[in-house]
Amino acid sequence: MAENSRIAGFRNMTVAQRRSAVTEATGFDGEVFSQLDSSAFEPTDAANLSENVLGVFSLPLGVATNFTVNGTDVLVPMATEEASVIAAASNAARIARPKGGFVTSSTEPIMQAQIQLINVGDPHAARSRILERKSEIIDLANAQDPTLVELGGGVADLEVRLVDARTTTYVLVHLLVDVRDAMGANAVNTMAEAVSGTVATIADGDALLRILTNKADRRIARARAVFDRELLGGAEVVDNIIHAYELAAADPYRAATHNKGIMNGISAVVLATGNDTRAVEAGAHSHAVIDGRYTSLSVFEKTAEGDLVGTLDMPMPVGLVGGATKVHPAARAALEIAEVSTATDLAEIIVAAGLAQNLAALRVLATEGVQRGHMSLHAKNLAAAAGATPEETESIVATLIEEKAFRFDRVKSLLAEIRSGGSR
Ligand code: NAD
Repeated sequence: MAENSRIAGFRNMTVAQRRSAVTEATGFDGEVFSQLDSSAFEPTDAANLSENVLGVFSLPLGVATNFTVNGTDVLVPMATEEASVIAAASNAARIARPKGGFVTSSTEPIMQAQIQLINVGDPHAARSRILERKSEIIDLANAQDPTLVELGGGVADLEVRLVDARTTTYVLVHLLVDVRDAMGANAVNTMAEAVSGTVATIADGDALLRILTNKADRRIARARAVFDRELLGGAEVVDNIIHAYELAAADPYRAATHNKGIMNGISAVVLATGNDTRAVEAGAHSHAVIDGRYTSLSVFEKTAEGDLVGTLDMPMPVGLVGGATKVHPAARAALEIAEVSTATDLAEIIVAAGLAQNLAALRVLATEGVQRGHMSLHAKNLAAAAGATPEETESIVATLIEEKAFRFDRVKSLLAEIRSGGSR
């Protein structure tokens, strides 16, 4: 495990220095990092993952520092094009550290497949007939995936739901499958297809759709963290963050942005580890609806001591096998860096990152607002676009902030000034 996820000055290091610092913190050899070079993912390998492939698309991959999850330090791999995300997660993790960092837990990794039965004349009786033959159907489903069963997974239960639609009542058979370290879509879809004929015969109807549900509400990962009042900025900041959360809980317009902040962290780790971002996002959106109303995925409260406590519970269908996880070199390296041995470990780290990201955004919004940080990043981008070196950029950004002038013409004149030996 990462001996210490708190790496001083990490943000200001060069990429090579960061690789050495991570090696020092974790004992990794250089092999892991060579997997993160864009040249490690050959277009010919990429062509096996998708279709009509012309090349590969690269994104920055970094690690969030300062994370402690269940008492163990961890470096959280994140792939994102959005500035500030990794820094913000690291910052929030630092604020969580003095009170023990993130505490996580989860359900068993249960995914569900749905089989839609149509043309059933007696839906209620059909439901009973299917449940009477539950164990036979489960055995048939399990026979499709001996590997999974051998690993301790397989069908955990079968449920039947009746859904009243506009013109008819559908009988829906749900296979609840423990998918162990897989995301599980292919695994459960195969099972659903294999048993659909049998259940259709039992129901005396026809099977139509046979596919997993991305509302993975039986596969929940939870994270909780206490954020130190003083490190947050004092009692008023705690109260204002709670106001910010309460608005998200009450108003869907705010909740959408609040949850987007959570997903900034979640999707970055899901993507870095080669997992299916859309599956996790679909699970999150469906989970954010309670009693028909879209709301906040997280909850923030004040502890008896006046600190802030945040909790985030959400579906987390991610795997260590299948999809791109084993094929994409950077995804494999990211999984190594995260040092996870089960999909559940990974799911819990992801939710911790989501909670950290959420807190960081709320804190900025409840204090200085987002623009200050964004404008300095904007200034950095302008300087880079003008061809400034890192040293020149530093000086240009400082001047732009001082002058509150974020214009490209000003960047170019400052750069010319520096290069002509000006005082800046
Ligand atoms: P998969 O079928 O490639 O791998 C899962 C299989 O690996 C299991 O069935 C099992 O036989 C085997 N396995 C070996 N070691 C295992 C272990 N330790 N734990 C569990 N299984 C183990 O992949 P998958 O996870 O079933 O499916 C994931 C892929 O499905 C992703 O690429 C996803 O994008 C895609 N997908 C998603 C959707 C959706 O979300 N709606 C639909 C279809 C496909």
